[in-house]
Amino acid sequence: MRLHFQDTFRTELPSDSNTTNDRRQVFEATHSYVTPRIPSTPQLIHVSDEVLDILCLSRKDSESKAFLDVFTGGKVPEGARPYAMAYAGHQFGNWAGQLGDGRAINLGEIVHNESRWALQLKGAGETPYSRTADGLAVLRSSIREHLCSEAMYHLGVPTTRSLSLALTGDEVLRDILYDGHPEYEKGAVVCRVAPSFIRFGNFELFASRKDVTTLRQLTNYTIRHFYPHLKPDSKSDVVKFFREVAEKTMSMVMHWQRVGFVHGVMNTDNMSILGLTIDYGPYGWLEGYDVNWTPNTTDRQNRRYRYGFQPYIALWNLTQLANALYPLVEEIPPLQEVIEHYQNQLEVFELTMMRKKLGLQIHQEDDKALIQSLQESLQLSETDMTIFFRELASINANTTLPENFFDLPISKAYYQPNEINSAILASWKAWLNKYIQRLQLETMPEHLRIDKMHNTNPKYVLRNYMAQLAIDATKKADYSLIEELYQLLKTPYAEHTNHEKWYAKRPEWARHKVGCSMLSCSS
Ligand code: AMP
Ligand code: MG
Repeated sequence: MRLHFQDTFRTELPSDSNTTNDRRQVFEATHSYVTPRIPSTPQLIHVSDEVLDILCLSRKDSESKAFLDVFTGGKVPEGARPYAMAYAGHQFGNWAGQLGDGRAINLGEIVHNESRWALQLKGAGETPYSRTADGLAVLRSSIREHLCSEAMYHLGVPTTRSLSLALTGDEVLRDILYDGHPEYEKGAVVCRVAPSFIRFGNFELFASRKDVTTLRQLTNYTIRHFYPHLKPDSKSDVVKFFREVAEKTMSMVMHWQRVGFVHGVMNTDNMSILGLTIDYGPYGWLEGYDVNWTPNTTDRQNRRYRYGFQPYIALWNLTQLANALYPLVEEIPPLQEVIEHYQNQLEVFELTMMRKKLGLQIHQEDDKALIQSLQESLQLSETDMTIFFRELASINANTTLPENFFDLPISKAYYQPNEINSAILASWKAWLNKYIQRLQLETMPEHLRIDKMHNTNPKYVLRNYMAQLAIDATKKADYSLIEELYQLLKTPYAEHTNHEKWYAKRPEWARHKVGCSMLSCSS
């Protein structure tokens, strides 16, 4: 197995002179060199064949001892010098100071076929940034990260990728519910892959310390490598850079809204400077459509990171990034103008996304009201978001509502059909009649509309209980469901009639089960 390391981040930016793994505050450095922990009995559980391909690695490579050693932290590959990145962040709205890669270790950047990828091991041991924690990850959360990164990619959502999932053979102590009952769980390592893992928090760290030199170095580096059409060392281009980050971030979040993904921990340290979904922790998928839903039990009181609020949080996070970049711009209005632009555009973004979900091509004044009343109707009685939008394509301009409402395919989406009383029924009928009339204004051929809707509204997402079933099976050393879900979620917009069992509402047992509807940051 050949990995051509060609590092830029660690070679072009200042590093910490201390090279121990001891926890500490690190100044005037973007990263610290670290040594990954050697796992006791590593075992590879799953490899993403698609990520192997983009890295120009073969199936055979992935079966080698070298692959297992390198991607579990057991052996530092030739040419690599592992490091942890320094960053800070706002967590749940509060300034948290220095955070950094506490359980992620970058192997470095490899260049294959002229494309450059950064490789990062998550769960490979402590770093100077581990604070009070152990630098490890458990199998349960590693399965969730591995499967979801790939599922999101295939849904067309910008995301970091995941190459591999391996057991370390070591045990990790975790208190899932933070209720004083910690238990030992299996430790695991995931190898994440992205062009870069730089976050908003990397910029915030230096700005908070008034270390403009390192802030400038980091910004110039990011522009040079990832926004190369912009000029480094230019005030106006820092503003342009910020505008592009804002554009990518808002676009990513609108994709989340489209597929019903709730990140769960949108802290600024979990916001990628490339607009990629990063840090799959207590994320979840909307089952019943509910704008106030969050999977994160740690956030159940404030619901700061609830589904319907994600676009606003993205703007809030962008404001923190603007503050961090301010010392390089020295003027508030141009940065403010970017934020205001996206604030004003939010409604347009949402309208555009929802029009797509509804299969509407032309723009009508009343579309906003139509969408709003749909969102209200969807919350009258628990209605499965994925099934509803997928089945909506079966309604067309000539549909007449059947005598028995439950003959309509969309009615499969109701969790409690017996709760659909006459008032709810009336509201649905009114909405559907408006929608049918609205479809009559469209000129797009029927089959095209259905195609477009089916390519916007996935049939399969990584429902919370599906990941949990894959996790539960590993207790019997059965890893087959991981591969089954991985393969299914490669084509989430396809029909897969032989996989119909995964096109179903959340089963009742999963409603309140830990790991399905309740997730914590304990990963
Ligand atoms: P997260 O909420 O997972 O994005 O993590 C927030 C911060 O805590 C980051 O600096 C992480 O590196 C750090 N962190 C989370 N879990 C661990 C762990 N098990 N060991 C060390 N650091 C951790
Ligand atoms: Mg994080």
